[in-house]
Amino acid sequence: APARHVTARVAPLGSRLVLALVEDRTRERRVEAVRRDFVANVSHELKTPVGAIKLLAEAVADASDDPEAVKRFAGRMNLESDRLTRLVQQIIELSRLQADDPLETPTAVAIDDVIGVAVDTSAIDADSKNIDIVTGGTPGLEVFGNDEQVTAAVANLVANAVSYSACDSTVLVTTKADDGAVEISVVDQGIGIPPDEIDRIFERFYRVDPARHRSTGGTGLGLSIVKHVAATHGGDVRVWSVEGQGSTFTLTLPQHLPHHAPGQLGSAPS
Ligand code: ADP
Repeated sequence: APARHVTARVAPLGSRLVLALVEDRTRERRVEAVRRDFVANVSHELKTPVGAIKLLAEAVADASDDPEAVKRFAGRMNLESDRLTRLVQQIIELSRLQADDPLETPTAVAIDDVIGVAVDTSAIDADSKNIDIVTGGTPGLEVFGNDEQVTAAVANLVANAVSYSACDSTVLVTTKADDGAVEISVVDQGIGIPPDEIDRIFERFYRVDPARHRSTGGTGLGLSIVKHVAATHGGDVRVWSVEGQGSTFTLTLPQHLPHHAPGQLGSAPS
């Protein structure tokens, strides 16, 4: 390869520099490709609800002498505009996360508060399906990072658990500390995820068979936001799922330990 040819002719220290530059260029090109892809996907995803709203507006105009039909079309326009709003919000959130300095000033983030906000955010949806959201585990834990981002991640996991569960079920949110990390698990008894889809659900705009849950009107961006937050914090997110029985998503973030160097995964106090 040309890169190797160049590096072979420079001194050891220089060769490392050249390699680093070559790697940097490759990374740059990859980032650029991902960005182009994202823009293409965004345009496609935005066109769908906009197109639907336009068609529905035409239908309303044509049905002006049928009040029942007008009402039905207007209701659907309302749903489509909600979806559009969510989509725009999540696209903005994701691009903010992708900006260069997401963790400018990390602080101690109280996980009980984060879970409180996440549960409140889903309360109306949970109530309407008679879903109980139960919290448990170790209280008082703190992670080291960005409050807003951690809250967005946990809120997305709880919202999904509610969306993909049947009525009259339970969603459990638990916390525990393990070896310098905090694990936040969201457990549901919902529809689960087919094994051959599980690797793809964290991709942007990816939705498992959108037809099976059209009514939930998701965007396919929630889990990419969770994954991004995990990555920028040096943590991770994992999923276990059995189709038809439920799913568990576990978000792991660095624990904030008072009197210890924060932000290090795997360094528990002795
Ligand atoms: P969406 O807006 O569609 O929920 P996400 O990125 O949050 O987008 O999730 C991607 C896909 O993963 C969803 O469309 C859904 O098929 C699947 N999924 C996510 N969370 C769950 C869950 N708790 N139970 C079952 N399927 C889930």
